[in-house]
Amino acid sequence: MSAEPKSLGNTPLVASVREGEPRFACDAMLGGLARWLRAWGYDAVWQRDISDWELIRLAQREGRILLTSDSGIFRIGWVRDHDLPALLIPHGLKRHQQLEYVCQQLGLPRKEPRCMRCGGALRPVPKDEVWERIPPKTRLWLDQYYQCQRCGQLFWEGTHWQRIERALNELNAKAAH
Ligand SMILES: [Zn+2]
Repeated sequence: MSAEPKSLGNTPLVASVREGEPRFACDAMLGGLARWLRAWGYDAVWQRDISDWELIRLAQREGRILLTSDSGIFRIGWVRDHDLPALLIPHGLKRHQQLEYVCQQLGLPRKEPRCMRCGGALRPVPKDEVWERIPPKTRLWLDQYYQCQRCGQLFWEGTHWQRIERALNELNAKAAH
């Protein structure tokens, strides 16, 4: 971790977070982090196989902060000169540690969870409207359902979500200290 380029804490990066609702573009290695950022309440895009250049162009076009574990990207002019806000994610961290790192560096408060599939906003949806899409066993014990306004994915707070939420709660408790 000591050989990181000195991009951390640079003013443009922190300023871009303070400006409002920060959105992120994650490199091809950071699919897990993208999902956890969405659960933490932030819009993060991720594409398998995206090249560095495509990623940089996408981040610029959509005004997203670049998250990457590839220090080579910091040699590219736009990133090196801070025209594009970017944060280097150290190697060897698990997903929740990556999320913790990003939260520490950028001071991101927890928000309403977003769609873990695409980062879209979720809205509550009446059970009878999505009845056919709910697994029969889940219908029996859960009444709260949410739908992504971007991709239409249906979510509920099942056991998988409960595991994630426990991890997020722990992180939130740590961040408060
Ligand atoms: Zn979605």
